[in-house]
Amino acid sequence: MKKTLVIGAGGVASVAIQKMVQNYEIFEEIMIATRTKSKADTLKKMLDGKGSIIHTAQVDADNTEELIALINKFKPEVVVNLALPYQDLTIMDACLATKTHYVDTANYEPKDEAKFEYSWQWAYRDRFADAGITALLGTGFDPGVTGVFSAYALKHEFDEINYIDILDCNGGDHGYPFATNFNPEINIREVSADGSYWENGQWIHTKPMEIKREYNFEGVGEKDMYLLHHEELESLGINISGIKRIRFFMTFGESYLKHLEVLENVGMTSIEPIMYEGREIIPIQFLMALLPDPASLGPRTIGKTNIGCIFVGKKDGVEKTYRLYNICDHQESYAEVGSQAISYTTGVPAMIGAMLVLTGQWQKPGVYNVEEFDPDPFMEALNKWGLPWIEDFNPTLVD
Ligand code: NDP
Repeated sequence: MKKTLVIGAGGVASVAIQKMVQNYEIFEEIMIATRTKSKADTLKKMLDGKGSIIHTAQVDADNTEELIALINKFKPEVVVNLALPYQDLTIMDACLATKTHYVDTANYEPKDEAKFEYSWQWAYRDRFADAGITALLGTGFDPGVTGVFSAYALKHEFDEINYIDILDCNGGDHGYPFATNFNPEINIREVSADGSYWENGQWIHTKPMEIKREYNFEGVGEKDMYLLHHEELESLGINISGIKRIRFFMTFGESYLKHLEVLENVGMTSIEPIMYEGREIIPIQFLMALLPDPASLGPRTIGKTNIGCIFVGKKDGVEKTYRLYNICDHQESYAEVGSQAISYTTGVPAMIGAMLVLTGQWQKPGVYNVEEFDPDPFMEALNKWGLPWIEDFNPTLVD
């Protein structure tokens, strides 16, 4: 019987686990282990009897020894890390110690430094290879599907890809003046950081929100989008041969940006601890306690996401443009799994990545990003499991 250990029971985990249960022939037995066990128990209650056998446990994923004990007891084939990026390394250590495959959706970020990059996880390559186990990094939507789209475009549409623009548009409206669609601390750390893009083998750095473009997204309409640093730029810049430039743009509304600016100006987004009434607090964590829980946005959010990649490259010596994208409807996601589309578009690819590792289609000893595997079974699974993709052979380009 195939066993999967999922760490975390938040927005993304909730969708991934529901999709695993829909796919119970692969995910026969699932252990949901998280910090607040009652959240895992709620999921178990909802899903018991629907196909997979579900267990729950409490675990502190910052503690490698606790994780090792849990893995040794349950003996899963794969551990799917849907906790926070802070836990990536402790969970990878536990996987190494127990020779268990590892899957995640976000690259490691130290708690005390707002910086994310793959170097920490890529440093595990030899140890995972020697242990004969696979680590699949970043199998959400972006990173994740964007990397699979890139590998698919290179395999089927191009001889070489020279330019990639990743466009992440969330046209959803939750009716709050300010809220984030996934974990607020991680989200705000990401969008308030300096931007950057990869060009001719080096990083070009920008100020936060310095580069703005407009784009007309099918299903959403005309939106402002801003250049951000994003983790898949780092791996795709290396793994997609012939690449000259790769950029990432995300849409933000005026209200979101205005709130963020004010919060930053007053110091509420800081990760530096401050003393308040004799107690140390971290402003961004206090802010997170005030903001709506992303999981509560589901019933209120209307509209669609439109996320994908525009490719410019060459086929048979001729320049060619191509776009691959997905449109996901917030309310359809909510009707199916009780979550808005951001958790949906991350949770479905997390399930698919875990499935491909479990079935052996995406197993090779070492640490890999999604674009380093054959994209075809993943692309097929996206259509089957709720994130169908659309091709455009004459896309509007971003200048
Ligand atoms: P949530 O905050 O909703 O959920 C996080 C879960 O992890 C919670 O259940 C939390 O427990 C648990 N957790 C946190 N710390 C620990 C710990 N030390 N030990 C055990 N469990 C812990 O986050 P999301 O579901 O929104 O995001 C999950 C992951 O998905 C994040 O890494 C995020 O960066 C990533 N992501 C990736 C995307 C992509 O496209 N690639 C897009 C969106 C998100 P508790 O309930 O106690 O807080």
